[in-house]
Amino acid sequence: MTSMRAMVLERPGTPLELRERPVPTPGAGEILVEIAACGVCRTDLHVVDGELPDPKLPIVPGHEIVGRVALPGIGVEGFSPGERVGVPWLGHTCQTCPYCCSGRENLCDAPLFTGYTRDGGYSTHVIADARFCLPLTGSSDDAETAPLLCAGLIGWRSFRMAGEGRTLGLYGFGAAAHILAQVAAWQGCRVYAFTRAGDHAAQSLAKSLGAVWAGGSEETPPELLDAAIIFAPVGALVPLALKAVKKGGRVVCGGIHMSDIPSFPYRDLWEERQIVSVANLTREDAREFLAIAPKAGVKTTVTRYPLTEANTALTDLRQGRIQGAAVLIPGMP
Ligand SMILES: [Zn+2]
Ligand SMILES: [Zn+2]
Repeated sequence: MTSMRAMVLERPGTPLELRERPVPTPGAGEILVEIAACGVCRTDLHVVDGELPDPKLPIVPGHEIVGRVALPGIGVEGFSPGERVGVPWLGHTCQTCPYCCSGRENLCDAPLFTGYTRDGGYSTHVIADARFCLPLTGSSDDAETAPLLCAGLIGWRSFRMAGEGRTLGLYGFGAAAHILAQVAAWQGCRVYAFTRAGDHAAQSLAKSLGAVWAGGSEETPPELLDAAIIFAPVGALVPLALKAVKKGGRVVCGGIHMSDIPSFPYRDLWEERQIVSVANLTREDAREFLAIAPKAGVKTTVTRYPLTEANTALTDLRQGRIQGAAVLIPGMP
């Protein structure tokens, strides 16, 4: 195999274009991965729509990559050809800034992000920094594993950020929430799922995955929540979620981009309610979550698309037509 195919964004706001390129050679410390599946994340929409600053252009989006090591570069240890690996959003960190040195590499001052500032997985092949690749053991289906690599990981980090409470609200029941609901229910939480008003498909999916209640975002849940996690990129959900949490409760914003948050009365924040955001992930998050997901019996619901249908997948995600997660499959005709 000497050439690869990739869906490339030349300019934000335009459709991805299919390109053929020579298969690149991994540099020192890098591996060439042959991609089996790549999940489509809402962050990819923000990249494609130009809502995130300074992407590398042209860019190959995609940061939920499952593939096999095709060729390890010089100096790579611990990965051999044919081994299954995951390539997540955090693609590289400097390892010297104060954040990297204090166990907070998710906040690194000079990071690279897969599918945003370095080429990602809407492709047949990708070059990745081996130190940030995740070994994927087990025999899970490649497509069903892909959404774990961002939706799963970010959901997990958001869940830990939500604290110890037992009642948890999830606003926006897409890829991340449909995974986290299962983990949270497995850990004994009562999960309340909030969707767009009237989205009965998402509400019944939520209930089938362990939610004790599902309703529209404007609805008041039957009990106040210890914490709420907002996965939908909708700032108006922040004041709504604040009203749904108890004293001392926490509202966690799990996305990388959100529309503006409307103003709200201070009394809704009063009594030690908190609003926090979650940024990126650490490799430690990944190790933890990939170990927990099989124990919790996480099953992902995926819709598969051929690689060349990436634009259709993005449109379907944008229009809320996907239950669970969309996944691109390079080998699918
Ligand atoms: Zn750093
Ligand atoms: Zn993502």
